[in-house]
Amino acid sequence: MTDAPRPAERSWWLEEALALPEFAGPEAPALQGDTTADVVILGGGYTGLWTAWFLKEREPDLDVVLLESDICGGGPSGRNGGFCEGWWDRIRDLRQTYGDADAMELLMTAGRSPNEIGAWCEANGVDAWFRHGGDLAVATNPMHEGAWDGTLEAARALGVESEYRVLSREQVQERCASPRFGGGLLIHDAATVHPARLARGLRRVLLERGVRIHERTTVTRLGMGARAVAETALGSVEAGEAVIGLGAWATWWKAFKPRLTVRGSYIVVTAPAPERLADMHWTGGEAIRDLRASIHYLRTTPDGRIAFGLGGLQPDFARRIDHRYDYDARFTRRVADDLYRMFPNFEGIATDSAWGGPINVSGFTMPFFGSLGRGNVHYGFGYTGNGVGPSHLGGKILAALALHAEDGLTRLAVVTRKPKRFPPEPIRSPGVLVANAAIRRKDDLEDDGRRVGPITRFVARLPRRLGYNLGPR
Ligand SMILES: Cc1cc2nc3c(=O)[nH]c(=O)nc-3n(C[C@H](O)[C@H](O)[C@H](O)COP(=O)(O)OP(=O)(O)OC[C@H]3O[C@@H](n4cnc5c(N)ncnc54)[C@H](O)[C@@H]3O)c2cc1C
Repeated sequence: MTDAPRPAERSWWLEEALALPEFAGPEAPALQGDTTADVVILGGGYTGLWTAWFLKEREPDLDVVLLESDICGGGPSGRNGGFCEGWWDRIRDLRQTYGDADAMELLMTAGRSPNEIGAWCEANGVDAWFRHGGDLAVATNPMHEGAWDGTLEAARALGVESEYRVLSREQVQERCASPRFGGGLLIHDAATVHPARLARGLRRVLLERGVRIHERTTVTRLGMGARAVAETALGSVEAGEAVIGLGAWATWWKAFKPRLTVRGSYIVVTAPAPERLADMHWTGGEAIRDLRASIHYLRTTPDGRIAFGLGGLQPDFARRIDHRYDYDARFTRRVADDLYRMFPNFEGIATDSAWGGPINVSGFTMPFFGSLGRGNVHYGFGYTGNGVGPSHLGGKILAALALHAEDGLTRLAVVTRKPKRFPPEPIRSPGVLVANAAIRRKDDLEDDGRRVGPITRFVARLPRRLGYNLGPR
């Protein structure tokens, strides 16, 4: 077993970005005193940042204040794997959950985001390493060969099969020669980004556009009257409209707790070894994932590193989002072991650092958006590990809701359809823990070529039987 990799300061991405003045500065001091605004945004992740961007796009004179408890991008938005995609990989669940017409609309609308993010970076001088290399889902055991048939069937039913291409084992090896990879499914319309550079670049551009950003400012209470009041330790913001983009931290909110649960995901990044990547032909910038329910996701960086993540982990009961989500030696050691198992030719290349973050999970594995109170407090979360591309659409939706614009965005099924509830405590936490453990056990046994027992299989499939889009079918 490898040594536990060094804990990064939030993430390797943020360490890299914050060393550069264009992503570090200028200052966004903590809120001091009471102020007013047209819109107050809670949370400086992609959702809050894109909402501010689209508000200013639609109404340049709007006075927007954004409050972030850490630094912008300090949460998952600056820590993620940087897979920047629409919902093509979820086509089967989308049809089942929303029906064909709504599924199609969601696919097409979210499908625009990756390219629009790339174009935004270009237009605003943000070098976020945007690379359009496609998303490659690979089989890592015989059980997963052909697991994409259901996706292709759904794609044919909606007439969008040209978005996908099945690759044989040989074709996968031509793109990335891991001894563990079998055949796979390529989704053309997907990219990778440097997640922290994207978040911090958004922050810079918003400051230039006159958005008032206050970092290290925790909202302790949101008053929901005719005007919303965001209270913090040293001041408050009173605004006509409020937008809540708190990601996993929204689970603290009584109104959202039944519809969100939190899991951890952990990433390790290696030292640069571009020659080893070239040896295994992984030079096309593909975002690669396996077909486990607790997925491995992996991508390269321009200087030849592998960033390798594992999802679906849960630090014990972890009902609170604490330091265990930032770093967990046991989990990161496990992730590093999996990396070298998948890429034995990286043996001898050290891991540079490791980190984790909380994933906000919704029952349909899709984000949901809406309004509360007197219709002037708007929210959006539940991206379930796929928020880099969809939060761009989320920003469009939330800007439309905050401006009370009745348009196609506010009629999307992720706004109109109620999200699925999780069971209440005390069933919920142990239930999630047990189902999660069974899902991971099933995945691990299948990857090791071992038999999955009937109890593990039954429990792993329970979430699906109960109507959640979670775990194996
Ligand atoms: C390890 C990891 C890997 C991931 N990999 C991918 C990937 O490859 N592709 C993908 O699409 N998605 C990925 N995701 C998911 C993706 O990062 C999220 O969906 C996305 O960043 C959500 O953005 P957000 O703005 O909604 O939330 P966040 O980024 O969580 O932002 C919420 C912000 O609210 C702040 N906050 C919390 N409480 C308060 C308060 N009281 N007052 C003020 N501010 C507060 C937090 O500090 C945080 O900055 C990953 C997530 C993790 C953790």
